Amino acid sequence: MEDNLREKLLTAFEGKLTKTIEMYLETCARCGICTTSCHVFRSMPRPEYSPAARAEVVRKLYKKYFKLQGKLLPSWGEAKVLDDTALDDLNKAAYSCTGCRRCMIHCPFGIDTQQIMSIAKLMLVVAQAEPEILSMLADVSISKGESIDLIKQGFIDGLKRLEADVVGKWKLEAGQIPIPTEVQGADVLYVALAGAHSIIPAAAVFNAAKENWTLSFFEAVNFGAFVGDPAKTKLIMDRIINEANRLNVKEVCICECGTAFRVLKQMSGKQSFTVSSITQVHARYIREKRITLAKNTFKGIVTYHDPCQIARNGGVMDEPRYILKHLTDHFVDMSKKPEANFCCGGGGGLVALGEDTHEFRMKSAKVKADQVKATHASLLVTACENCHSQLNDLNTYYKMGVEVKFLSSLVADALVRGIENKA
Ligand code: SF4
Ligand code: SF4
Repeated sequence: MEDNLREKLLTAFEGKLTKTIEMYLETCARCGICTTSCHVFRSMPRPEYSPAARAEVVRKLYKKYFKLQGKLLPSWGEAKVLDDTALDDLNKAAYSCTGCRRCMIHCPFGIDTQQIMSIAKLMLVVAQAEPEILSMLADVSISKGESIDLIKQGFIDGLKRLEADVVGKWKLEAGQIPIPTEVQGADVLYVALAGAHSIIPAAAVFNAAKENWTLSFFEAVNFGAFVGDPAKTKLIMDRIINEANRLNVKEVCICECGTAFRVLKQMSGKQSFTVSSITQVHARYIREKRITLAKNTFKGIVTYHDPCQIARNGGVMDEPRYILKHLTDHFVDMSKKPEANFCCGGGGGLVALGEDTHEFRMKSAKVKADQVKATHASLLVTACENCHSQLNDLNTYYKMGVEVKFLSSLVADALVRGIENKA
C-alpha cells in the first residue's frame, strides 16, 4: 500500500473517533459474552465471526496508529500495520456483519460493533475497495435527486397505471385522488420504494383513513448507508428532507425499509416534521378508528420477524403486534423479547449484493430459519423490503414452508369497508 493512501485511510479513521467510539475501541474485556449473540457465529461458529473478533480487526489498527504504545513499539502484538492484508481483513469483518446490533444489547459495556464496523466500511470506501455495486446504486439515487425535474412527468405517468389497483383495494370517495403528488401542506409525505408493491397497499390505507397525504418523488432506500459512505448517506437523505420542507409537510412516513427509517429518524437532526414508519402510522389509524380491519381472513399460525433497524434500533416493536392482534387470533411470537430477535441475515447491504452473498446469507442465518420453524407458522410477516427478500430466500433454502408477506399489504387487504365496497 502506498504511503499516500495509508495517510488518507488514517485521516478517515481519525474523523470517526468520537468519544463514544474511542470508548468502544478501548473497553472490550474479551469476556466473550457477545459471541453467541451474533446470528453469524451462532449459525457458523468460527472465531472470526464473533463480534469481538470483528471489532479487533479495527482495534488493532487503532492501537498501532492512535495509541502511544503502538506508535513507540513497532512490534507490539496488539497492534497491526495498515497494509493490503489489513484492508482485506476489514472487508471480511465489515461484510460479514449485518449491523443488527444484537451483540450490543448483551455486551456489559454496550459496545456497538456496528459503529466499529462503520470505520471499516469508511476505510474501504476511501480505498475504493468497497462493493462497487453499492456505491453505484448510491450514485444513481444521488443523480436522480439532481435531475428530478427531468423525471417527474415519467414518474407521474407511471403512477396513473397503478390507480386502478389502488381503487380496487379501497373505493374512493368524492375529492380523493388515488395517488396524490406535490400536495403543498400535506399532513403526511409518504416515501416508498421503487415498485408498485410499496405504493398500492399504502395508498389504499391512506385513502381509507382519509389522510391528507402526498407521495414522494424519491425512493426511500439509502445505499449510502449500506456502503458506509457518510457523504452519500447525507446526500440521499437530504433529497427527502428538502422535499418535505418544500411541501411543508407535518410528518414523513417511511415505507417498509428499515435502513431508510433509521437513517431519517436518527440522522436528520431537528426538523419541522416528525418521522414515522408506516407500521407506526397504521397502528395509529387503528387506534384512532380511522381504519377497521377484518380479522382471521387467512388460516394458520402467523408470526412476525422484527426488522433490526425498525425494532431493536428504531424502537418500533409494540405497533406491529398491535396491528397483528387486529388481523389474527393465531399470532405466535418467535422471540420472548422482540428487542433480542435474531437478524434475518440480510442487512448491512448483503441482500443488495445478491448472488455474491447468497451462500453466506443462507448459512449465516440458519438460526433465523430455526426460529421461524419453531413457531409452526404458515404465514411469516415482516415490515422491511430487505428482510422480506432474505426471508424468501431462507424459505426456499431451508424449506420453511411459509408464505412471506409485508405487514402493510395484509393491512390493505383486510380493510373492512374496502371489502364491502368490492361486494
Ligand atoms: S452487529 Fe449483528 S452481525 Fe454484527 S457482530 Fe453484532 S450481532 Fe453480529
Ligand atoms: S461482550 Fe463486550 S466486552 Fe465482552 S467480548 Fe463482547 S464486545 Fe468485548
